[in-house]
Amino acid sequence: MFVVELLFMSTGAAVVGLLAMLAISSVGEKKLRAALIATAMLIVFTAGWFGFFFFKSLPAISMVSSIAIVWLLAALFFAPLGKRRVLQVGEITSKVDERDTAFAREEYLPGTDKHTQYYAVHPEHKDIDDKIRTLPLLLEEGGRYYDAAVSEEVKSIFSKIRMMATQVDGDVNPACKPVEAEAITAHIKRMMVILGADDVGIARLNPMFVYSHVGRGPEKWGQPIENKHKFAIAFVIEMDYDRVETAPRLPAVLESAENYLKAAQISVSVARYIRALGYPARAHISDSNYQIMLPPVARDAGLGELGRHGYLISPRFGSRIRLGAVTTDIPLIPGRPISFGVRDFCDKCLKCAVNCPPSAIEKGTSTNVRGAHKWPLDVMKCLHYWRVAGTDCGLCMKVCPFSHPPTLVHNLVRMGIKRSAIARSVSVWGDDLLYGRRHIPG
Ligand code: SF4
Ligand code: SF4
Repeated sequence: MFVVELLFMSTGAAVVGLLAMLAISSVGEKKLRAALIATAMLIVFTAGWFGFFFFKSLPAISMVSSIAIVWLLAALFFAPLGKRRVLQVGEITSKVDERDTAFAREEYLPGTDKHTQYYAVHPEHKDIDDKIRTLPLLLEEGGRYYDAAVSEEVKSIFSKIRMMATQVDGDVNPACKPVEAEAITAHIKRMMVILGADDVGIARLNPMFVYSHVGRGPEKWGQPIENKHKFAIAFVIEMDYDRVETAPRLPAVLESAENYLKAAQISVSVARYIRALGYPARAHISDSNYQIMLPPVARDAGLGELGRHGYLISPRFGSRIRLGAVTTDIPLIPGRPISFGVRDFCDKCLKCAVNCPPSAIEKGTSTNVRGAHKWPLDVMKCLHYWRVAGTDCGLCMKVCPFSHPPTLVHNLVRMGIKRSAIARSVSVWGDDLLYGRRHIPG
């Protein structure tokens, strides 16, 4: 009987500990609803479990059954149950032209050569693009969340990034230094972390993720992009949780801008270092100068999985990240794509799609998009909303259940999601219960 009582007490203490951690973590995250629900569960469980034990002298059979139920539920949550689906990437046969991307198209102002040339070839885009161009520019007066002081701060950060746009590439040292792939891979990863990256991975660069033609930036518009580098060094920078929570308001844009600047500084420094060793390297930075599509490249580098909203989801920081990359020919050891349950979770969750103000995120099943089975995003609807809001929105990033901070209790849930199909279903329901399904932008 003593052993049963001991097991009963320790099982109860473990559950109480978990609920207390959830309540404390929710207070830290300023999630009042989750904190109240966790506290209520804590009180009810403690009263029920220990109350019966102390005041009703429970029979051994009741204690054994209670212990068995708790541990069975824990096993169902953490045991490797069910197969995890992963993104199916077939043969990708065409490249994306950067001139067709939303950010390039919004720059083709009426009366300019780009406007004339582009819409002569793509008249189907003219109406929606003209309509978007009538709206206030991002960070300008007229946007719903405009704030003069923060807007100026963000603009000054982007102007610093723009000044780096001509530093992304340069001369390669003709005295090429021999390097050993394993050692230089570890060295570059460490260097990036010291410079401020939170996770780094290497991908063999899929040429189909290189844009076909220049659409933005200081290089000649419409010129073919000749990047034939073998590898991409991709990295993740975590965005501040509290600032992301302010989305779609301007502090979230400030956080994006600061991280774009950090990503630009890291990638320009590392590309310069590699060229000094005698190998070609190019940094891919925000606000004009990407040659590659970062999310699929970062996925190939093993930094995360692509979510329903089209962002990369990192196993540690969820959607709350910014990406950066350097492409190069220095010999490196590439990583592999990882899977931790995002695909199945997104099938059931849909929280980003439900909360996207212009309904730009697909609510149905994934489809074949240029060879990869994923959820198509209506980028023009998204951009239209950005111009209405005057910010880069970020609501889908904020509401994503993977974006909770990496506290012990959230990490335990992530562990369950990675392993068990049951955890993937229960966690969708649990996230809605604790944090709410709908988030109305303030
Ligand atoms: S950023 Fe906003 S508008 Fe764009 S997809 Fe996400 S939630 Fe929708
Ligand atoms: S909010 Fe849900 S559906 Fe959307 S990306 Fe995140 S996990 Fe996937």
